[in-house]
Amino acid sequence: MAKLNTHYRQLKREYIFPIIEEKLFSFKEKFPLAAVVNLGIGDVALPLASSIATAIENATREMTTVTGMRGYGPSEGYLFLREAIVNQEYPSVGITPDEIFISDGTNSDASSIHELFSSANRVAIVDPTYPVYLDANIMAGRGGRVTLLPCTKENQFCPTPPSDHFDLIYLCTPGNPTGVAMNRSLLEQWVAYALKEKAVLLIDNAYSAYVTSSDVPKTVYAIPGADEVAVEFRSFSKSAGFTGLRCAYTVLPKKVLKGKLYPMWKKRQSTKSNGVAYPIQRGAEAALSGHGATETRAQVATYQANARRLKAALSSRGFTVHGGIDAPYLWWEVPEGTSSWEFFDHLLTTCHILAIPGRGFGAHGEGFIRLSAFTTPEQVTTAEAALCALE
Ligand code: PLP
Repeated sequence: MAKLNTHYRQLKREYIFPIIEEKLFSFKEKFPLAAVVNLGIGDVALPLASSIATAIENATREMTTVTGMRGYGPSEGYLFLREAIVNQEYPSVGITPDEIFISDGTNSDASSIHELFSSANRVAIVDPTYPVYLDANIMAGRGGRVTLLPCTKENQFCPTPPSDHFDLIYLCTPGNPTGVAMNRSLLEQWVAYALKEKAVLLIDNAYSAYVTSSDVPKTVYAIPGADEVAVEFRSFSKSAGFTGLRCAYTVLPKKVLKGKLYPMWKKRQSTKSNGVAYPIQRGAEAALSGHGATETRAQVATYQANARRLKAALSSRGFTVHGGIDAPYLWWEVPEGTSSWEFFDHLLTTCHILAIPGRGFGAHGEGFIRLSAFTTPEQVTTAEAALCALE
């Protein structure tokens, strides 16, 4: 009989989304007329920018001609997109187009990067965080080598480098779920740590488009030496509304681990990926410049304004809320003596607002609720009014 991968049984973290759906279902059964404001799942809410749709349409149409037809594309992505990324996102930090690898999502890349490393490595992962880094390591039987780095109120939700040795460190900045980003000084400390320990930083920077603070670099490569120790993951999902289209990229500089990692990732991509659809890559290219960039920046600005309004509404009611400045998430402290699940229930039944209990993102998420600003301004107005019920 075929034997199963028993490591899957070690995935202990409760999978919150089915529980949330169940709670929402029973709430709607009880109150069929109640309109729920969904500030839970962090999926984009605004329609796709028209420049992106036009670029995708044109590229698809191009493929109906003999000269424009494209079959399998390069597994690392088309050069036009890799060049556009370097020009728009990494203009002066020394990253070159051949250090960019296009993929169908940061989720895929961040969950497979561990394949390049020995299972003997000591791994550190921020907690609470986007669940994929930990779960992918557990599924691969590496759970026993993982140490969690607490992101707490005391360290402003951004851990400093530890005193002991780790080989691989997963960081998520700007952070999901905390909505807080690492500033330059902290990133410098992490780069110095990685250089000293000969470690690799695996940095999920899916929310770079949301950075507004002047002391928060948009990329780790703004820090000298980072190109020797850091791999950065970026996505078009939240910067350009691509959650349903799927396009992202990994930046893997040739100097990381003295050039040993780069050919391995290249090999891995060419073995395991046949690339991302040509029209989608044209759509991503359109998001980066000209009218497409104007449209996507306006969408990001809308979500940022949503975050500011929600934060102001909560703060004016005496609640303590973190994040929301460099990321589209608010990290709301639940009242003392209440668990994050209890407060989730309270918010749903009292205000008809759907949030995510912080516990679902890791043990150190207990005591917090995550609100997503990925909604429409109209829904924020409804939420602002609904929050009065908490008084
Ligand atoms: N990384 C973080 C931190 C996220 O919050 C998300 C989505 O919510 C992703 C990655 C997923 O990115 P993608 O859609 O490119 O797979």
